[in-house]
Amino acid sequence: MSFVVFCEHQNGELKKGSRELLSFAATTGESITALLFGPGSSEVAKQASRYGASIAFAGDSAEFEKYNPVVFAASASAAIKESGAKFLLASSTMMAKDLFPRVAGQLDTGVASDCTDLVFEGGNLKAKKPLYAGKCKAEVEFSNSPVQMVLMRPNQLPVADAGDESAIDVKAIEVVATEIKQITKEIKQGASDKVDLTEANVIVSGGRGMKEADNFKMLDDLADVLGATVGASRAVADAGWVPHSMQVGQTGKTVAPSLYIACGISGAIQHLAGMSGSKVIVAINQDPDAPIFAKSSYGIVGDLFEVVPKLTEEFKAALN
Ligand SMILES: Cc1cc2nc3c(=O)[nH]c(=O)nc-3n(C[C@H](O)[C@H](O)[C@H](O)COP(=O)(O)OP(=O)(O)OC[C@H]3O[C@@H](n4cnc5c(N)ncnc54)[C@H](O)[C@@H]3O)c2cc1C
Repeated sequence: MSFVVFCEHQNGELKKGSRELLSFAATTGESITALLFGPGSSEVAKQASRYGASIAFAGDSAEFEKYNPVVFAASASAAIKESGAKFLLASSTMMAKDLFPRVAGQLDTGVASDCTDLVFEGGNLKAKKPLYAGKCKAEVEFSNSPVQMVLMRPNQLPVADAGDESAIDVKAIEVVATEIKQITKEIKQGASDKVDLTEANVIVSGGRGMKEADNFKMLDDLADVLGATVGASRAVADAGWVPHSMQVGQTGKTVAPSLYIACGISGAIQHLAGMSGSKVIVAINQDPDAPIFAKSSYGIVGDLFEVVPKLTEEFKAALN
């Protein structure tokens, strides 16, 4: 009844979403195997041991440096089979959402992606996932599934305090795909060195009320003070003011930070679909009837060009 947790890592560190899943798996008392791809995986596996993993499958070799769906899916399927695991947990990231449906196909099982709630009951996983832009949630259970696979949105589960590093049996993942008809030549990193939007604890987001691209500098300043990541509505991404990778919403990224500050965003249903899971929402809008206020914990009715610099000043004074 063991778990495999797909552990994503960046700059030699386990991502928060992966630490959340390891922490969850540890609460079940079942044994945990970490599955990692990319350079440095064997080393990062040691961090997984601090959250209860006792075995790791690590793909350090050159073939696993860049994501290749065919290579990764065949090797991940083989590793999961070899582990004998009944459960697979992964963060619902772009890569995992591409990879695990393929793995599920190869293992003849089902996969639930984009889940926001997860419990382990009676030896089975039960998850919930939002539908219809978050208007309702579907309850997902597995029947006759050799492996119960759940992809969780990051920032939904608590991270346990890390224990001491312990012995972990690291096995090298082999390339098992035989017919590789595609290669990944290059992966372009986003320009930002900030925490990825989906994992950010604080997000400052701008909408059409920002008036023009250059004004996003004002949000960068506030974000720097708060250690936040900057997001945006689709209207401004479509206008080319910011890259689409910053878009929050139904057709952008789904986020669930502790604090979401929406500046000059009206609160269209498609935007709310991507951020209404935030714990505290602060809206700054000059229109007192803007729909975003109905979803906000705190609302500031006013001109963002006056409010945002004042907030930046006050936070700087309070946090320094
Ligand atoms: C299929 C589909 C998918 C979509 N997916 C997404 C998605 O993923 N994400 C998304 O965001 N949208 C999405 N949209 C678009 C969505 O419907 C809205 O058009 C969009 O969210 C509006 O962006 P906005 O709030 O920035 O702009 P607007 O709706 O134009 O709002 C601008 C706000 O700024 C305020 N404002 C103006 N000046 C100031 C000022 N000086 N100070 C303070 N406030 C000011 C205004 O009062 C207004 O409320 C989607 C639409 C469709 C049809």
